[in-house]
Amino acid sequence: MEKYQFDAEQLRMMERMRVPFAVYQFINRRVVTLVLSDGFCSLFGYQNREQAYYDMDHNMYVNDHPDDAARIADMAYRFAVEGGQYNAVYRTRASDGSGWRIIHALGEHVLTPEGVRLAYVWYTDEGAFVPESDAEEQASPKRLGAALSRSLREESVRLGMHYDFLTGLPDMTHFFELAESERDSIRRSGDRPALLFIDLSGMKYYNRRYGFDEGNALLRAFARLLAIYFGNENCSRFGQDYFAALTPAEGLDRALGQLFRDCRELNGGKSLSVRVGVCLMEPDSTSISAACDRAKLACDGMRNLYVSCVKYFDESMQKDADVKRYIIGSFDRALEERWIKVYYQPIVRAVNGRVCDEEALARWEDPEKGPLSPAEFIPILEDARLIYRLDLYVLDRVLEKLKVLRAEGLHLVPQSLNLSRADFEVCDIVEEVRRRVDDSGLPRSPVTIEITESIIGSDFEFMKEQIQRFRDLGFPIWMDDFGSGYSSLDVLQSLRFDLIKFDMNFMRRFNENESGRVILTELMKMAAGLNIDTVCEGVETEEQLRFLREIGCSKLQGFYFCKPIPLSALLARYRSGGQIGFEDPAETGYYESIGRTDLFDLSALTGED
Ligand code: C2E
Ligand code: MG
Ligand code: MG
Repeated sequence: MEKYQFDAEQLRMMERMRVPFAVYQFINRRVVTLVLSDGFCSLFGYQNREQAYYDMDHNMYVNDHPDDAARIADMAYRFAVEGGQYNAVYRTRASDGSGWRIIHALGEHVLTPEGVRLAYVWYTDEGAFVPESDAEEQASPKRLGAALSRSLREESVRLGMHYDFLTGLPDMTHFFELAESERDSIRRSGDRPALLFIDLSGMKYYNRRYGFDEGNALLRAFARLLAIYFGNENCSRFGQDYFAALTPAEGLDRALGQLFRDCRELNGGKSLSVRVGVCLMEPDSTSISAACDRAKLACDGMRNLYVSCVKYFDESMQKDADVKRYIIGSFDRALEERWIKVYYQPIVRAVNGRVCDEEALARWEDPEKGPLSPAEFIPILEDARLIYRLDLYVLDRVLEKLKVLRAEGLHLVPQSLNLSRADFEVCDIVEEVRRRVDDSGLPRSPVTIEITESIIGSDFEFMKEQIQRFRDLGFPIWMDDFGSGYSSLDVLQSLRFDLIKFDMNFMRRFNENESGRVILTELMKMAAGLNIDTVCEGVETEEQLRFLREIGCSKLQGFYFCKPIPLSALLARYRSGGQIGFEDPAETGYYESIGRTDLFDLSALTGED
């Protein structure tokens, strides 16, 4: 719907009127201001009509008492949506700074000759608000000002009981009650109720940058915006920066598009983007709280997005959530009962095919659900910030293995351990690793730390320091999955790694086109120039192997040589000896040829014979 245009003469006449009044139009769930009279500007203390128009369109309740703003926003919403009369009494800041004035607003809808519905609202000043019952009021309790002050004070008390103190939106419990009847009324009108779970993204960072007062101002402004679109009583602040709303599904996408645009202007443009999860409520008896959980699931699915976005709930999200609950719930048991196993994948030296390293990879063999892949459980444990326990468990198993091998007098190769970003946030992972390795009596150098560029994240200086600590202690550091993100080269410029492990995608796209191979060749030269060792992972074919040897990749890892296998299988392989090298791969078959390791003499490192 277009904004209605009065002709210029008509507009000028209305603006000149001394009576405080305004004309509004309701377009696409939003109140748009068409006219503000001189009387309106002087009543609300505006020297300048432009400022008044701006405030009405961007922050309509900026000068109103926080206890009243939510209520009148809701009345305005209902007036716009349901018609009838607007009849509101509320407090607004006195223009001379002397406290609060009581305003009485009366509004009606009027149809223009073209059939456009407009709202005309008249305002009256009912005198100063008396914050506490005083002698004068007690003497004449029936005086209008006294009666209004009393009922507004009662309103504040009522608000304190069921409404969020900061934003004036219903609190969660009250919202659940209100939403039940709103859901039924939406259904009666033939529409489908949609429950929205809304998250302002980056609120913590915002508070840190601008301070809590600005953070609170943004939350209040955002709540007002929600109230404009959905009605105050149909919205709630669940806490922190989480909100909810219940609204008809019809036209929702368009309304959200507009809300996202308005959101950018909030709080003088110092705003945040929003993530909205939507649960369309089926005609069955989905409860409001179940719908909230579903909408939240949809919203959580966008956690890594930092632009305003919407996602609708679907059943697969519920399944993912169930898996997540299971993994977190059974993690302790999985460690205790050793459902989590450590598999090892040999890495071979390109020149001779000898095993030169092994990567430790976690496997979850669940007695109920069967094998779970790391792609399933690792991100969940990372999110839940439990991954450090897995990583230290893997380290413990690796140290046990090294001790067994040492006792058997076998030659060993360094063991690669994967660490996640959350490890560094939850504990002092450098110290935890150091302590465990030192306590085991083993040297540090056979424990290699693999980290991906995504670990570096936003806190570059912190991670730089942690990596340096590992290196200073004598743990080799490898950069894993190089080329899988966008910042690999940046990271390489500022941090020193002992080795770069090229991401599996280079091999996956090996046959797609020439350019992947050209890029890999150049990257290999770069690594040589920087004097950094290289591994390529995901080697699956002989053709890939030949190519990688040609371009000078120093180490190789992939199913072509060996899949990740349990310790017992690995030991059986080593004990049985077998071929080393792959001078004649056709005859030996590499997969079976992983027999002997590079000589990594642990006794030399420990000072033993
Ligand atoms: P990653 O560190 O890049 O590990 C290499 C992954 O590539 C392993 O997958 C391995 O099985 C797979 N792979 C090796 N060669 C080939 C090949 O030739 N073809 C194909 N298609 N795949 C190959 P996996 O074990 O499923 O692990 C996936 C990722 O999970 C790992 O990627 C690592 O980021 C993470 N991860 C695994 N174990 C741990 C752990 O104990 N702690 C942490 N923090 N992350 C782990
Ligand atoms: Mg790795
Ligand atoms: Mg990798």
